[in-house]
This record gives sequence, C-alpha cells and structure tokens, in this order.
Amino acid sequence: MPHDLPKAYEPGAIEARWAEYWIKEQLFSAPTPPPGVSRPVFTLLLPPPNVTGRLHMGHMLNQTQMDIIVRWHRMRGFLTLWLPGTDHAGIATQMMVERQLAKEGKKRSDMGREAFIERVWEWKRHYGGAILDQMKRLGASVDWSREYFTMDENLSCAVREVFVWLYEEGLIYRGKYIVNWCPRCETAISDLEVKHEEVPGKLYEIHYPVIGTNEYITVATTRPETMLGDTAVAVNGKDERYTHLHGKTVRLPLMNREIPIITDDLAQPEFGTGAVKVTPAHDPNDFEAGRRHNLPQIDIMDEHARMNKNAGPYAGLDRYEARKRVLEDLREQGFLVGEKDYTISLGKCDRCGTVVEPRLSTQWFIKIAPLAARAAEVVENGEITIVPENYKTIYLNWMRNIHDWCISRQLWWGHRIPAWYCACGEVIVAREAPTKCSKCSSSELKQDTDVLDTWFSSGLLPFTTLGWPGKTRDQEVFYPTTLLITAYEILFFWVARMIMFGCHFMQGHKQDPKIRKASGWGDKKDDSVPFRQVYIHALVRDAERQKMSKTKGNVVDPLDVIQRFGTDATRFTLASMAAPGTDIAFNESRTEGYRAFANKIWNAARFMFMNVDRIGPGLRPGGGQECPPHTGVAGFRATTLEDRWILSRFNRVAQDVNQALETYRFHEAANRIYDFFWGEFCDWYLELIKPRLAENAADPGTACQNLVSVFEAALRLLHPIMPFITEEIWQTLYGYHAPVKSIALAAYPQADEQQFDLAAETEMAILQDLIVSVRNLRAELKVEPKVKVPIEVFSRDPETGNLIQNNREAVERLANVAHIAEVAESRARQFPSRHTARFDVRVIYERKIDVNAECARLKKELEALEKRIEVAAFQLGNESFLSKAPEKVVSGLRRQLEDTTILRDKTRNKMADLGCA
Ligand SMILES: [Zn+2]
Ligand SMILES: [Zn+2]
Repeated sequence: MPHDLPKAYEPGAIEARWAEYWIKEQLFSAPTPPPGVSRPVFTLLLPPPNVTGRLHMGHMLNQTQMDIIVRWHRMRGFLTLWLPGTDHAGIATQMMVERQLAKEGKKRSDMGREAFIERVWEWKRHYGGAILDQMKRLGASVDWSREYFTMDENLSCAVREVFVWLYEEGLIYRGKYIVNWCPRCETAISDLEVKHEEVPGKLYEIHYPVIGTNEYITVATTRPETMLGDTAVAVNGKDERYTHLHGKTVRLPLMNREIPIITDDLAQPEFGTGAVKVTPAHDPNDFEAGRRHNLPQIDIMDEHARMNKNAGPYAGLDRYEARKRVLEDLREQGFLVGEKDYTISLGKCDRCGTVVEPRLSTQWFIKIAPLAARAAEVVENGEITIVPENYKTIYLNWMRNIHDWCISRQLWWGHRIPAWYCACGEVIVAREAPTKCSKCSSSELKQDTDVLDTWFSSGLLPFTTLGWPGKTRDQEVFYPTTLLITAYEILFFWVARMIMFGCHFMQGHKQDPKIRKASGWGDKKDDSVPFRQVYIHALVRDAERQKMSKTKGNVVDPLDVIQRFGTDATRFTLASMAAPGTDIAFNESRTEGYRAFANKIWNAARFMFMNVDRIGPGLRPGGGQECPPHTGVAGFRATTLEDRWILSRFNRVAQDVNQALETYRFHEAANRIYDFFWGEFCDWYLELIKPRLAENAADPGTACQNLVSVFEAALRLLHPIMPFITEEIWQTLYGYHAPVKSIALAAYPQADEQQFDLAAETEMAILQDLIVSVRNLRAELKVEPKVKVPIEVFSRDPETGNLIQNNREAVERLANVAHIAEVAESRARQFPSRHTARFDVRVIYERKIDVNAECARLKKELEALEKRIEVAAFQLGNESFLSKAPEKVVSGLRRQLEDTTILRDKTRNKMADLGCA
C-alpha cells in the first residue's frame, strides 16, 4: 500500500488531527504504578493559568519548553506526568464577572453572596478554561485525566485542612495590620500587587506647637489629611536639636489633641527638619514605630477611603476632598508654613489603577519566619536547585527579609476562611462548619466573610493534586515533583510558597525507594521539597527587544502566528532562541524560516516514500527489527563512505542534543537538529545516495533501507520540538504497522559512541570542501547552472587524491563537474581557485572570460595599488613624519606597504598570464 503524503505541507489540518488523536487515545496519561515496580519517574506541574486567561507569548514559551522536556523524558522511558489545571484567580475572576453584571445593570452587592458565587461558577462553566482548550489544540502532552481546578471539592478540603493545621500550630493568627487597601476593589492587596508610579506632587510643612513652650516642631508630609490620625511626633534620639524637647508633647493642629514627642529611628536627622509625624493607622513604617512605642492607632478612613468619625469635622469627606479642606484650614490658622514641589511614588492597584491607601484592618496572617527558614535552607543546601543560578541569590535574599503573609482577601470568590465568630467573642477555626459555640453553646455563629489569597491554594498544589491530605500511592510515586518551569515574576508569589508549604506539610514524606532510585535523585536527602529543580525561563519581547504591552500595541498573539506558520514552526522559533537567561526577541521572519524547514522535511519525506513504494514493499522502518525501544538508527547497514558518515553524524548530534536538553539549552538542541536535518541529511546524504536508489543500481534495497532508517531516527530526535510533522510522517511511514501508538511513545535517540567514525567524518569534510569550493567558483565565474565544467585538482597528499578519485562520481554530480583532472603541481595562481590544507582546486572555464574586460579590471586594480604604494613609500621616506608619528602607525604603514607590494606583483603576474597589453 503506497505511502500517501499530500503534496503540500499544510500544518493547520495535520496539527488539529494529531492533537485530537493524542487526547482520544489518552497517550499522555500517567497511570499510578503498583508498589514493587522500579521505574524512573518525571513529574512536572503546569503553572496553573488563571481560569480567566488567554494564551499569550509568555505561556507559549513556557509551554513549549515544558512540552519539549516532558516529551523528551517520556521518550527516554520515564513514567512521565505533566499535571494540568487552572487557578480560580480570586480577584481577576470576580472582576470579570462584575463587569459582565455591570452590562446587565446589576451589582454584586444587590445579588448577595450565594447568588453571586453561583454566577461565577456559571461563568466558569461557559468561559473558564479557554486557555486549556488552547493548550489542547497546541498538543501539550499533559495528562488530561488528572486536570484540576483550585476550587474543586477535594482541593478545597485540603485548603481547609492546611488552614486549621497551621492555626492549631499557632502559625496562623488574626491581627491588626497595615495593609495596602484598594478602595475600589475594597480589598487588601499584597505589596507585589501594587504598582508604583512617580508623579509630581507637593510636600507640605506643618507647624506643631510644643505644649508649655513657644516652640514649634515642623513636620513634612505629602498626605496632609493623615495628620488627623497622628498619635505622636518622632525625633531621633541622637539629634541634639531636639534633646531639650524629649518627654514633652505637642498639640495636634485642627484636632486639638495632645500627642507625645517620641525618640525613634523612624526620624532621620539628615532628612528635612529631622522630625516626623507618626500615623500608625495609615503608614506602614509609622505602624511599626507605633508598635514599638505602644501608640494608639487612630483609623480615620473607611473602606472607601472616606473620612470616618475619627476625622472629626472632616468625617464623610472623600480622602482628596479632605486633603483640600485640611490644607485650607491649616493655612488659615497659620500652621501651614511650607509647600514644595515633590516627586511622589504613588502606589496603584495592579488590577484597577486606583491609588492604594495604607490602611489598618483586621486580617489573617501566616507567621512566616519558621516556614521561610526551612525554605531558605533547602535551596541553600542544594536540595532544590534553581536555574539559572543568579535567581538563587534573589530568592535567598527575599526569604531572609520576609514579612508575615497577609492571607485574607475581602472578596467573595475564593476559599472562604474556615473561621466562625460568636457574639460572645469566641473564634472557632474548624474543618467543617460548627453547629454551636464551644464556649457559650450559642448556635448564632457567623463565618468570616473573607476568602484566602489565591496563592494560598496554589502554593499547595504539588501535594494536594496528588491526593493530600490522604496518604496516596500517587504521592509515593510522583512527589517530590521533578521540575518546575516558570516565569521569574512568580518566583516569590508561587514558587517560594510551594517550597514553604511543601517542606512543612510533607515533612517525613519518603518517595518509594524503588521509584526514587530509578529517578536518579539519589544524592538528595529531603523528600519533602515540592520539586527538585526550578528552571526560570526568559521573557518574550518584540523583534526590537521591547517589552510587549497592550499600550504599545506590540503584542504578538501566538495564535495568530500559529495560524500562519503552524504550531511546529512557532515552537521551533521559541526553542531556537531560548538560551537560558536571555530574553527572546520574537521575530516572525524566523518563524517563516522554520516553516520552510518543516517544508524541507516534508519534501524529503515525499522523496523517501516515492522510493520506498517503488523499491519494495518489504521495507520497514528499523529494517524489520522492532524499532522502539531502539535508541539509535535501526536496521542500518553502512556500506559506503556516506553511510558511515551519516551514522556517525547522527550519533554525535544525538549526543549533543541530549546534553543540551539536560541543561535547558533549548536553542542549542534546536540548532543542532536543524543543521543535521536540513544540512547534513537533506542537502548531503539524500543527494549522495540518489544514484544508489536508481533502478539499475546494484543494491537499491540497502540504500533505501538506510534512508528510511536514518529518517525515522531523525524524526524521533526532532519530535519533542516539532511534535506534529514528525508524528504525521512517522505514522505514514509505518502505515498500520507502528509498534506503538505514537512517535511520542517511541524511544529517544541516544548516542552510541561505537558508531562515531572520525575517519568517515574527516573524509566527508574534504569532499564537502571540494564540492562547496567548486560551487562557489562557479558562482563567481557566473557559470550557467546547466553547464558542466571541468576542474583541476592538486592534492597535497596521496590519500586525498585517492579519496577524490574514489568519489569522483559524487563530486561530478553534486558540483556539476564535467571532468576532474588531477595535476601534479598547483596552478592556482593563474586561475580563479580555492585552496585548503588538503587540495587546490580550479574551475576550467576560460571561454566565458572576456579577456579585454578582465585586463581592464586588472589594470585599474594595478593602478590603485601602485598609487597606494607611492603614498606609503612617500610617507615612510618623510623624516618629519617618522619623527612625529607613533611607532604603531609607522609599523602599520610598513606592513601595509609590504602587503600592497605582494598584491601588486600578483596582479602583474596575472596580467602577464592573460597576455594583457
Ligand atoms: Zn483595585
Ligand atoms: Zn459563644
């Protein structure tokens, strides 16, 4: 039955078909092996995209790298689990649904909590997970049977378990804290969700009268309205300007409150007047100072950033209106003594752009120091390695300066905090909703209205996705996961939290020793870590190395690129540019180039199939041997130089590619395969064996079998980077006889050093040099492509001469040579020629040379050379020049004179040879 490959390579149809096939056949599911089985395991957790997400270039790069590494491991016999899922993305999803409601003229607050959450679920069922559908189309080889959502019942259970566990250990507490508050989102947001912007503003100087004296203390602020909540003025203990005021108090203008003068390092003598106002409820640094001095915290704003009753006469005003009024009043009463232009670093909500207000609120916290200590240790001692290594330092610095983690969020969508409050003041933290108060037996209990930070649940994923808190076989096999590939921007948000949680909750966990040994992590001692290695990938920028952004309008949509060039070409582009630690300047022209690469492979396959169909039905990939688990070129019989050469090259390239992937040098792996497949295999090997496939050839069967064998192995080598085209050709090659259901399950090529053949490679290199030299000479001489020309070769040693003679046919055919004349003496001087260490070659092509034109050209050249010689000689004969010019200039000029003289003599000789007048 003929091997039917359409004439034109159309990636769209091929890719959709195989993506569907892989899912339908469940090729990438990782069944849990029973105890006793010793098998290397590779586990990788997909960084869960937001359920609201749409695929962008960053995902595309991330997923390409993950898929390459995952397919590579699977093909090398690892039991490979790539775990997919989506994150409920608290605030992002809630905002998405709120926007949808707004279009219907509805508000979340009118609907009530339950109805709103139901609405979010409905939204999720309709639109959520679009990004996973995109992944399916892109052929990501994840185990779809294990797909999770962070709000799934079992994962939510695990979240409650963790909360209660930490609470019982005293690592979760409730407290007043200064948080970044978004008055628009009405929620606390983390430092990292605040974007800072430099804007022009004003610094106001205000007089605070010292009670019992005629003195004033001058303080400065950019947010004058916060003075309404001041509870102290701080000066530095070492600042002698204020020593006489220690222990005194000031009268707070407008509010008429008496507040103390305290000494604290918060006040820097060299900054301004050296005195600062202290507002513990509205500034994070003041909050800390307030704690040190036991100052009252006076909260003057409500959740909408409107003044509350504590702001006295300003109650009810919006923060900016209050600022205006406070300034007017201070001015009027003579307390405002200065007003300067000042650049302010304004914190804005990352989600909605509203100016964030530092605000005191009751929040839930994780006491982070005990968790962070262990999380720093495992990275420091190499239980977890971070690649590239510079991120290790960044990570460790962060872990050593970490603050308690505020985990409560004032949202409706998310894991609701499992804490219930009773009117008697009792707080009950429990896995299940309690029916009555443990202290007063009241059944009037109210659950906390807040939900947990999204990163709380995603930080648990490495073990909760494997059945935790139960003890499961999955954990024994797949935990710790092997690798995490992720972006730098979530190193702290996510990676650090997973390490903290993993080390805490999986303490004492032991991976099944049989699996552990087989997985090759024998030198690691700690099985509680969530992963063994973290690889931080680069950013994708635009072709001009600009960061992609919607405002700049330079965002490249990966789906658009895929539509035009195919997924394979897009993947290859990203892989070929992904040098570790280097950002990628995505350039479509490269993708176009890799589309051409795919096309080249396609055409080579068609050529192969044509020969297979003609030469014999008995041909099989692997020459009738079982192909997988064959890791090399199966069924290959090296009978000629080009056979020995291609086999040797294949093994070397396989070695290089495996080594490159081992260290995430995706670019090297891609480029080596590219050079091999296009250059060595298509351009050389295919051309060299063509005559051996001819009908009248001595042994077309062997030649054809060799062609099939190398091609099949090369497809396997390329598969992790270009999964679709390789699958299409591989399946066509096997017809109904494929030994496994997919090339993705075949064996990845490994180098067999026995098949390295240095002699064959050296000899081939000489022949390639010769053929390329002749081709270049022909191009220089503008020989018509169809015209065969004789060449003259002078060999420097008899071996080279023999080699060229023995491969005379190939040289003649590939360089379009009529005849090879061996000469005993090089005549390269007289003719256009090339020389290498082994040979000189010239193309005998005199007919086309217009002697007169050539003479005219040479004459001009000669004149120019003579002019240069004259100038140089004049300068070198000039005493005053020689005495002034630096030695370097003089010696350079001498060398130039020598070189020019040699060239002049050569040109003269050439003119004499040509008989120029
Ligand atoms: Zn906001
Ligand atoms: Zn009670």
